[in-house]
Amino acid sequence: MSRTGAMDRVRRCVDHAMILTSLLLLAWPALVEDVVRGAAGAGRLIAAAAVVGTAAAAVLLLARRRPLVQYVPVAAAVVLAGVRFGRDGQLSPGLTWLTLTVAAVVLVRQFLGARANEGLVRDLTRQRAQLVRQAFRDPLTELGNRKLFMDHARDALADADDTMTAVILFDLDGFKEVNDTYGHTVGDELLRTAADRLTANVRTNDTVSRLGGDEFVVLLPRLVDDQIADTVANRILRDLAQPLTVGEAVLSIRASAGIAITRGSDMLVDEVLREADLALYQAKGEGKGVARRFDPAQFAAVEARRREEADLRRALDDGEFEVHYQPIVDLAGEHTVGVEALVRWNHPERGLVPPIAFLDMAESLGLLPRLGGWVLEEACRQAAAWQEQQPGFELNVNLSASQLSNPALVDEVRGVLERTGLPPSLLVLELTESVALVDLVESARVLGALKTLGVRIALDDFGTGFSSLSHLGTLPVDVVKIDKSFVQAMQETTGASVAEAVLQIARTFNLAPVAEGVEDAGQASRLRELECAQAQGYHFARPMPAGQLTELLTRQATLSA
Ligand code: C2E
Ligand code: CA
Ligand code: CA
Repeated sequence: MSRTGAMDRVRRCVDHAMILTSLLLLAWPALVEDVVRGAAGAGRLIAAAAVVGTAAAAVLLLARRRPLVQYVPVAAAVVLAGVRFGRDGQLSPGLTWLTLTVAAVVLVRQFLGARANEGLVRDLTRQRAQLVRQAFRDPLTELGNRKLFMDHARDALADADDTMTAVILFDLDGFKEVNDTYGHTVGDELLRTAADRLTANVRTNDTVSRLGGDEFVVLLPRLVDDQIADTVANRILRDLAQPLTVGEAVLSIRASAGIAITRGSDMLVDEVLREADLALYQAKGEGKGVARRFDPAQFAAVEARRREEADLRRALDDGEFEVHYQPIVDLAGEHTVGVEALVRWNHPERGLVPPIAFLDMAESLGLLPRLGGWVLEEACRQAAAWQEQQPGFELNVNLSASQLSNPALVDEVRGVLERTGLPPSLLVLELTESVALVDLVESARVLGALKTLGVRIALDDFGTGFSSLSHLGTLPVDVVKIDKSFVQAMQETTGASVAEAVLQIARTFNLAPVAEGVEDAGQASRLRELECAQAQGYHFARPMPAGQLTELLTRQATLSA
C-alpha cells in the first residue's frame, strides 16, 4: 500500500474516534454515566450502545457528502460540557476525561489533516513540474519540441538588441524510405542519433528542437557574425552524414538545411521560421545535402512557384481540368475525321489555363501520369460516344515522358479501351521525339507493346528534334505530325522545301503525315498540292469543348446527307 493510502486509513480511524468520543460525551449524563458507575442494568447498556452507534453511523453517512458534519458532535459536546460546567461549577471525573480525550483526538485529527495537505501539495507540485516538462519535450529524442522552440525564439528575438538571431531548419532526406525499409525501431534510432549529433554541434545556450517527423530546428541567439550560422549548419550536415549502424543496417543520414537570420527584434518568430522554411525548400530543390540561406530576391519566385504547385495539386483533386478537342480534317474534302485531345485547366480565378502554363510543373511534381491518365479516359469515353454520330471517328491523345516510362502504361491503356469501348484502331497516341529519346530502346519496347493492343503511334512535332531520320527506323511509328513551324514557313521558298522534305520522308518510311498549325487557305492548298492527306489548325477549327464538337459533327452530318 502506498504511503498516502496508509495515511488515509489512519486519518479515517481518528475521524471515527473523534465522532465516537464526542457522541459519548453528549450521551454521558443521560445514558452512559449510570452504565459506567454500574448503576444501570443490561437494558440501559444496550440502549446506550445503540444510541451512540446509530448516531455515529448517521454522522459518518452525512459526513460523506459534507465533511464538516463530522465536527458537529465535537462542537455540540464542547458546548454541552461548557453548559454543564457553568451550571454545576465542576465536571465529574468521567466527563473530564472524556472531554480531554475529545480535545486530544481533535488535535491529532488536525495534525494529520495538515500533514495530508502538505503531501497533497507536494504531489501536485511534482505532477505539475512533470506536465510542464512533457509539454516542452519531444519524448522520442529528449530534445525540445515546437513549443519550446517557439518560447526560446520569442525570448531570443525580444532580447536581441543589436545582435542577430539565426534559425536553421533541418530536414532528413529519405527518412521515409528508411522507415519503410527497416521499420520504425530503426527509424526512431535514426532520429535519436540525429538529435544527438545536432546537440553535439551547438553551444549550451542554443536551442535544438524536433518540430515533428524528420524536421529539426536549431536556434542560435545573440550572434555577432552571421557566418557562424552557415558554419554551424554545414558542420551539422557533415556530422549527420557520418555512417551509423543500427542493428544490421549501416545508414547515413543525409539532410538539407534552410537558414534564416534576422537582426534586432523586428521580426516575429513565425516570419523567421517561414523564411527558414523557404530556404530549406530551396536547398532541397538544389539537390540534397546542402544548406541554403534565405534569399529575399528569390523569395517571391519560390513563394509563387510553391503556391502554384499547391494550387495544381488541389486542382487535380478538385477535378478542375477539362479536355478540349481540335478537329483533324481530311484535306481533300475538308471534313473532320478525328480530333486531338488537348487538356485545359479551368481555374476558378485565372479562367481557362493553356497546357503550356502547367504541364511542365505537373511533370516535375510527378502528377502527369495521373492527369494524363484522366485525359486519356475522358477523351476515349467521349470519342466512343461520337462513334454513334460518325463511325470510325479517330482520337489522338498526347503522352508525356513520365507516362511513357510508367511500367503500368500498357495495362492502363488496355483498361481504358475496355472500359470505354473505344475500338483500339481509332486511338492514336502522340509523343514527341524528345519524349521517345529519353530511352530509345525502352521507348521502342513500350511502343511495340502498345501497338499489340491495336492502337497507333504518332511522332509529334516532327522535324524539330535531333536526327529525326535515324529514329524513324527504330521506333514503331505509324503517323508523323509535321510541326507547325514548317507549315507556317511554307510561304517562303526555303520553308516550303522543308515541309516538302518532311512529307517526302514520311512517304519513304510509309508513315501517314498530318500537318499541324494550318492557319490560312494558302497553306491548306499548298499542302493539298504536296499530297498531305490530313491537317489540323486554326484555319479549320480551334480546340473546343466536347459539346461544341458534337454540334460540329451534327452540322457536318446534315451537310453531307
Ligand atoms: P501539341 O501536341 O503540338 O498540340 C498542338 C498545339 O498547337 C495545341 O496547343 C493547339 O492549340 C495548337 N494549335 C493548333 N492549331 C494551331 C494553329 O493553327 N496555330 C497555332 N499557332 N497553334 C495551333 P495547346 O492546346 O496549347 O497544347 C500545347 C501542348 O501541350 C501540346 O502541343 C502538347 O504537347 C501539350 N498537351 C496538351 N494537352 C496534353 C495532354 O493531355 N497531355 C500531354 N502530355 N500533353 C498535352
Ligand atoms: Ca500533339
Ligand atoms: Ca504538335
